[in-house]
Amino acid sequence: MIRIVLAIVAVALFGAAAVAASVPSARPADSAAISRPRYTPIPTTATSLSPDVGDRRARSDGRLYGRFVLPIEGAELPADLDLLPGAPRDYRAGIHEGIDFPADPGTPVLAAADGTVIRVDASFLDWTREQQDVALFEAMQLGYTPAPTLDRIRGRQVWIDHGRGVVTRYAHLSAVAELSVGERVTAGTVIGAVGSSGYPQGGPHLHLEVRIGDDYFGDGLSGDALVRGISRLFRS
Ligand SMILES: [Zn+2]
Repeated sequence: MIRIVLAIVAVALFGAAAVAASVPSARPADSAAISRPRYTPIPTTATSLSPDVGDRRARSDGRLYGRFVLPIEGAELPADLDLLPGAPRDYRAGIHEGIDFPADPGTPVLAAADGTVIRVDASFLDWTREQQDVALFEAMQLGYTPAPTLDRIRGRQVWIDHGRGVVTRYAHLSAVAELSVGERVTAGTVIGAVGSSGYPQGGPHLHLEVRIGDDYFGDGLSGDALVRGISRLFRS
């Protein structure tokens, strides 16, 4: 009889412990659900992606060489590997997928090539520091940065589709130009202004991503080859 009672107590205790153990992992999602701000959803079908350009052979091929102008007038291409694709981003257990151009807040940001606007965060609301903390904690627990978290870290954005699966993304903007989704822009069109939305800890800079299908340009490159590949994207 005593043995049975002990067994029941043990089950009760173990059950309580199991419930207690599950609470911390549930917390971030719950907190985020309570006060998640509105922000522009990630476009899912707006691009002209085709399966053949999304494969990993496309990530660093020469098709894109010379196709772009610098997105900030007079800017220099960063040579610091920490500002280039592939750099570790330990604070979110992730990898950098873009090119960072440090610049003063408000500096005009230019379309890097002719294309069609597929995203413009006109009514953008940044997340709070507390919401960011919760999301970054979750990323560290997971060991990678979930796509919605990465999107919010990029802050206020404009995306331009250049056809054949090639898309440029302009992130951390302080403001966007009066653009509409579907509008054609040409290389050099002002599309927004430099800021630090989404991740103010990084200081004001433009984060430019050159996407090819689901991949980012520079994936798989490193060191001098990466610096060379990035510099060849831009007309001198
Ligand atoms: Zn960046």
